[in-house]
Amino acid sequence: MEDIKKEMQEIVNKLNKYSYHYHVLDSPIVSDADYDKLYYHLVDLENKTGIILPDSPTQRVGDMVLSGFKKVKHISPLYSLDKAQSFSELDEWARKIKKEYPKTIFTVEYKFDGLQMALTYENGVLKQALTRGNGIIGEDITAQAKTIRSVPLSIPFKDKIVVNGEGIMLLSELEKYNQKTDEPLKNARNAVAGSIRNLDPKVTASRKLDFFAYGVPYIENKKFDSQQELYSFLKENKFLTNDFFVVTSSLEKIHSVISEIDKTREKLDILIDGMVIKVNEMKTREELGYTIRFPKWALAYKFAPLEVTSTIREIIWQVGRTGKITPLAVIDPVELAGATIRRATLNNYDDILRKKVGLNALVFVRRSNEVIPEILGLAQKTDDFKEIEKPTVCPECGTKLEQRGVHIFCPNYENCSGQLKERLVHYCSRNAMNIDGIRDKTVDLFYNELKIRTVADLYNLTQNDLLKLENFKDKKTNNLISAIEKSKSPQFSNFIFSLGIANVGIKTARDLAKNYVTFEDLQNAKTEDLSQIRDIGEVVANSIVDYFKNPYNQEILKKLFDAGIKIVYADRQKQQNGVFKDKTFVLTGTLSTLSRDDATKLIEDNGGKVSSSVSKNTDYVLLGSEPGSKYDKALNLGIKIIEEDEFLSLLNV
Ligand code: NAD
Repeated sequence: MEDIKKEMQEIVNKLNKYSYHYHVLDSPIVSDADYDKLYYHLVDLENKTGIILPDSPTQRVGDMVLSGFKKVKHISPLYSLDKAQSFSELDEWARKIKKEYPKTIFTVEYKFDGLQMALTYENGVLKQALTRGNGIIGEDITAQAKTIRSVPLSIPFKDKIVVNGEGIMLLSELEKYNQKTDEPLKNARNAVAGSIRNLDPKVTASRKLDFFAYGVPYIENKKFDSQQELYSFLKENKFLTNDFFVVTSSLEKIHSVISEIDKTREKLDILIDGMVIKVNEMKTREELGYTIRFPKWALAYKFAPLEVTSTIREIIWQVGRTGKITPLAVIDPVELAGATIRRATLNNYDDILRKKVGLNALVFVRRSNEVIPEILGLAQKTDDFKEIEKPTVCPECGTKLEQRGVHIFCPNYENCSGQLKERLVHYCSRNAMNIDGIRDKTVDLFYNELKIRTVADLYNLTQNDLLKLENFKDKKTNNLISAIEKSKSPQFSNFIFSLGIANVGIKTARDLAKNYVTFEDLQNAKTEDLSQIRDIGEVVANSIVDYFKNPYNQEILKKLFDAGIKIVYADRQKQQNGVFKDKTFVLTGTLSTLSRDDATKLIEDNGGKVSSSVSKNTDYVLLGSEPGSKYDKALNLGIKIIEEDEFLSLLNV
């Protein structure tokens, strides 16, 4: 027993140390995933042994109160939330409630990963803002809260009221902020905590925070029947509430909503770490009551973490198709949302310096929408920390590197093997010429064995050449030759994209294809003309002009056209007067025969537009399987919803 007590004390000490860095310094030294793992291990030990140490974190509501701020007692205590990490834990909680209150209806909301705040209004005027603190005592952050645009300074409701909710920083704001600063903020949660718990309100103001209201812990002369009614009240009183709010009595619906958001959460502009399920009826809530840490009528379903910690072991400097050299970190393998992560990106050498990361350092790694996870910043500097050296020569061809703005480039555009191979891979990729069967490994073979150097060389390949390569039999060879042949009639936008012009992604390529009648027109375009196009700035315009001015590129283009490339132009007549003229579409879910890109192209080629969010101005929602919240919104707004079959029949396909 003494041994286990000793082990528990060690865990408690560790957790308290982590909490200090997280809650007091707003600069964690381990990921939430690591913290939670240890925390639940402690909970297990406490349950098994019945021992609860006096300083155990399981006995108090999270945050600690900072000394620089005035300490104020909450009118009504603020709680943490009990957590579930699986549907069975969630069901167990819900069934227990349903057993006693069979008619229970639940609400499902985002679990914002920010900082809880409580705002007190008297006579309709914001009087005080407090952090949750330890739940009983909070820090007075009134001046800081007043700088947040979505905190109303006055509200129509005149009696005394406390509104609680979450201070958050939109991920897009975090990114904008981090691009301008020498000291990037590690993640949206710490960013918001550090911004609000900052003694200088000017700092808070500069961070462009938001406040999402979700509760009313105290109100005079008014009672709510339900969370639903409370939400309407918050909206009427000018508070920002999140649109995502599901009311249901069905556990299946709760599961499906959670699964859907889990799948799409990486695309949200708000950092969420789970969903909160609450009992809708206030009367039931009152009867269920609270434990010392949380309400019994609410539960947080936590998603698998998207952020973990790992150690950087090596940096591989990669050469891109335009010669840009970027660092890729090799990290100790770590599990992240169902996959083992071994590599993570850093943007450039400046990014390494700004994030203060180095070899052997423990760093935060986050999976985002991108394919490769990203290194967010330093968690802990270890004893064997080593600075990462800035490369001076190209890792592929040995040419002396050049600094251009924040990036390093290999200037050997025409002969660097790394660049040549990357351009070949890019040219064959799906949104480019879509030559099936040519990926990194094939390009290596082509480069080394067949001396293929440029994309134009692909069109000189013969059956005999390919048969010389290892593992190339008749069938594979024939398929490849016919795929290359097929690529000779590319759509205009795909062809533009395939050239690999710096800063021209598929979206810009589509914009260019819409704005120029022929390829020749595009080749002759001036920076001023190009900059007139919406979303094309001077940097992009300059890269396009530079690309076409370069004699080496001109030579390759000539060879491509000599080889028989014939661009297929969209039917402008159809684009201007197509069946979808002036119609706005929103896509949701997975389509069965079309990819999202194909559907987008079909809509645009027929005069329509694709938008990313549903609003009153949406004409159609194109529905695939497992749709997202856009589907619910479309239903609410009464937008016409069509499935793939109907969509294709509108096009007569
Ligand atoms: P929590 O932050 O996980 O959950 C409770 C909080 O959720 C509430 O206080 C509220 O602020 C918030 N919330 C968000 N959306 C809500 C909604 N719609 N309705 C109601 N509340 C909502 O729990 P906690 O007890 O505040 O903090 C514990 C967590 O903090 C741990 O799980 C851990 O992940 C993290 N932590 C990390 C470290 C570290 O070193 N990385 C240290 C300590 C704590």
